[in-house]
Amino acid sequence: MNEPSFLRPDCDADAARPSLVGLTRDALAAILRRHGVPEREIRMRTGQLWHWIYFQGATRFDAMLNIGKALRAELAGRYSLARPEVVAEQISQDGTRKWLLRLAPVDADDKGAEIECVYIPESDRGTLCISSQVGCTLTCSFCHTGTQKLVRNLTSAEIVGQLIVARERLGDFPGLTPPNDGLLPGEGQRPISNVVFMGMGEPLFNFENVRDAVSVLADGDGLSVSKRRITVSTAGVVPQIAPLGAEAGSMLAISLHAVSDELRDRLVPLNRKYPLKELLAACRAYPGASNARRVTFEYVMLKGVNDSPAEARQLVRLLKGIPAKINLIPFNPWPGTKYECSDWEKIEAFSEIVFSAGYASPVRTPRGRDILAACGQLKSATEKLRARARMVVEG
Ligand code: SAH
Repeated sequence: MNEPSFLRPDCDADAARPSLVGLTRDALAAILRRHGVPEREIRMRTGQLWHWIYFQGATRFDAMLNIGKALRAELAGRYSLARPEVVAEQISQDGTRKWLLRLAPVDADDKGAEIECVYIPESDRGTLCISSQVGCTLTCSFCHTGTQKLVRNLTSAEIVGQLIVARERLGDFPGLTPPNDGLLPGEGQRPISNVVFMGMGEPLFNFENVRDAVSVLADGDGLSVSKRRITVSTAGVVPQIAPLGAEAGSMLAISLHAVSDELRDRLVPLNRKYPLKELLAACRAYPGASNARRVTFEYVMLKGVNDSPAEARQLVRLLKGIPAKINLIPFNPWPGTKYECSDWEKIEAFSEIVFSAGYASPVRTPRGRDILAACGQLKSATEKLRARARMVVEG
């Protein structure tokens, strides 16, 4: 492979030096100021650093040839270009890829939290599903991530780091070669065109960092994922929905899953705090929503729980007046769950009612099941495998 030297994996990485990868323009500018860059040069120098980190995907300071040698050396002495470390990569038969990433430790006791991120190629797009927290505090009764203990917010840099690692693995920086396995989107498509915050965690419990991450992901001089192709999914943290639209400008998805408060209280306990009426009012008022920019409603199909034709009709009534699309998600079972996935005929009948009411209602095909990459299966699956491996070793 004739990769430029700065793209070699032996990047300027050292746990003792904080990484610049994932930082916002403001944060980079503040660092440059601290290192004596005169105010009149800040914009230009920040732009140069930005280009190397986000457009080129540079992993070494000495590749940044248009930045003066002295400044480069100073930066290299104090900072790194480390990204989250890829601990494992799995590739599904259907092209779905899952990466287990280890984050830099936050203190001496921390061994480095782990998160998962999933890549889903389709013919006309490639979607990266990223996490916003390690673990999740929501305890939705059908979701496996909620059973996990450790919880902390990811920094905006750690959120952005997921896209950088994925682009690197998919050969999507200048000078890299994409894998030639026929498992990427079609000709003329960038491998990753869309980003969804549908991995681990509740993005709106980590509002500032998610907002900052969206600004970095969407920057046209760098990673360039259009805001129309960035979707933040929430279980319904109502007070943060308007700020998300106003300050991040991303697309919005709501994990709805039920059409009555009585049932939604049980499936998504956050509903007790922010009931359906308030949630739907916030969606109706979502800044920037229009027929061209619809709010997505996710609805996981649970056998005998939320999958009746009456509930499909009620769903249509509830969403009246909201530019919406509805995503029906077959439930992905996990060991120990009390739920089952609805029968296929039930899902079809539900979808038909929603479709006849004028909504696009694609049923999300489960992807990457062979590598446990499907919705709601992230991380805990890996933890389980580890626990099993430990038992074998210790037993
Ligand atoms: N906390 C945010 C982000 C997580 S998104 C939210 O709730 O929207 C993860 C999506 O996968 C959500 O729509 C969630 O409801 C769905 N999901 C969780 N567990 C699932 C499972 N076992 N099968 C199918 N979908 C699931």
